[in-house]
Amino acid sequence: MRKRILCAAAMLAMLAMTGSISLGQTGVQGVTPLTVIRAGNLIDGVSETPRKNQLIFVRGERIEKVSDASAGIPKEAKIIDLANATVLPGLIDSHTHIFLWGEDPAKGGYDANILKAGIALRAARATFAVRRALEQGFVALRDLETEGAGFGDIEIKEAIEEGTIPGPRIFGATRAISSSGGYNLEGYAPELEMPRGAQLIDGPVEARKAARQQLEHGADWIKVYMTHRSWVDHQGNLVSQPTLTLEELKAIVDETHGWGKKVACHAYNGIGMQRALDGGCDSIEHGLEITDAQIAQMQRQGTWYCPTLAPYYNDWAAADTPAGKRDRARAAVHEITFRKALQAHLKIVFGTDMGGIPWTEPIAQEFGRMVKLGMSPMDAIHSATSRAAEMLEMKGEIGVIAPGAFAEVIAVSGDPLKDIGELEHVRFVMHDGSVFKNEIAK
Ligand SMILES: [Zn+2]
Repeated sequence: MRKRILCAAAMLAMLAMTGSISLGQTGVQGVTPLTVIRAGNLIDGVSETPRKNQLIFVRGERIEKVSDASAGIPKEAKIIDLANATVLPGLIDSHTHIFLWGEDPAKGGYDANILKAGIALRAARATFAVRRALEQGFVALRDLETEGAGFGDIEIKEAIEEGTIPGPRIFGATRAISSSGGYNLEGYAPELEMPRGAQLIDGPVEARKAARQQLEHGADWIKVYMTHRSWVDHQGNLVSQPTLTLEELKAIVDETHGWGKKVACHAYNGIGMQRALDGGCDSIEHGLEITDAQIAQMQRQGTWYCPTLAPYYNDWAAADTPAGKRDRARAAVHEITFRKALQAHLKIVFGTDMGGIPWTEPIAQEFGRMVKLGMSPMDAIHSATSRAAEMLEMKGEIGVIAPGAFAEVIAVSGDPLKDIGELEHVRFVMHDGSVFKNEIAK
């Protein structure tokens, strides 16, 4: 701890010498340089319509002001010319797994992540994942469990914050919590004590203890599993196995809220979904099949909905197998639920389950799924900017291009309101006021 403080002091002194930050309060002289971004088309993350020919004034890591092109630009300012581009706030993915390296059965599926990769390899892969996210314009991730990699997300976050590796802001959930019989690895000989991708508990005392341990070790959110296996029953309905009891969940929510943190609940449908809502979950993850009454309950309780559509369209098993029937049933009910959620104006946030989807694939593919199911492109963008920022209690700080916000600025060549697929080709990324990627600005 002491060493870290010394390092931080040394870094601050170095940055002050290079003039990239101001240390006015600490008595070191220095003027933070001004950068002005010319935005030909600006989608600010909050407004319903874009604005033409705007100037974004960036000083240090924050946006100082945003104005139209008539404002004077001081001659010492550095200019980034994005006059021929669409400029947006950096994007937020509210459901990722930086420690997950795909679940392709041909590569050993989920289990290979834990059985075949040691912690150093997993950390190297997570390092790749966070860099990939930033390159694609995702400047913040809510990372919802490390899948057996302990508290590694919080350490990757530390590595990013101390400047050792590039990456987005991380809101980590550490280990996640489920019940016995409620998470992988499973299907091995009963004599074997297998490692698990989540912390398994039984009873409210163990539930509260797990939450305390995770919060103590830096969890920004607590992630719980309210359902696990799913299958299609004889009537053709999707059924999912409930995991935590209402008492267990209430203990976790009570503890977590006491720490001023929130609880994200993986829930597909049925009993587990109802317990998630009755237990006071702050966000529903996946939410494949939410009844009208449950949607009304989410409206009353202000519950966030993170649908993660994309993974349910990938890797379907053969149609005539039980797994294939399940995969098709999931996508079918998910579409109905998503449309109902839109109609009910639920607070929908963009989430992908990246990690389940290989990190080599485009994160922004989720936008196309959302728009295809009836969401307007602007609403989809808001779900990955200001609305996600509000869920993360970062309203006005990220997910918006406005005075006082962190300078998280991205750009694409075309107009994402005409073709949402543009967001799969982010050409410029500024993160905390520093240009991380530039294939477009003059
Ligand atoms: Zn997930």
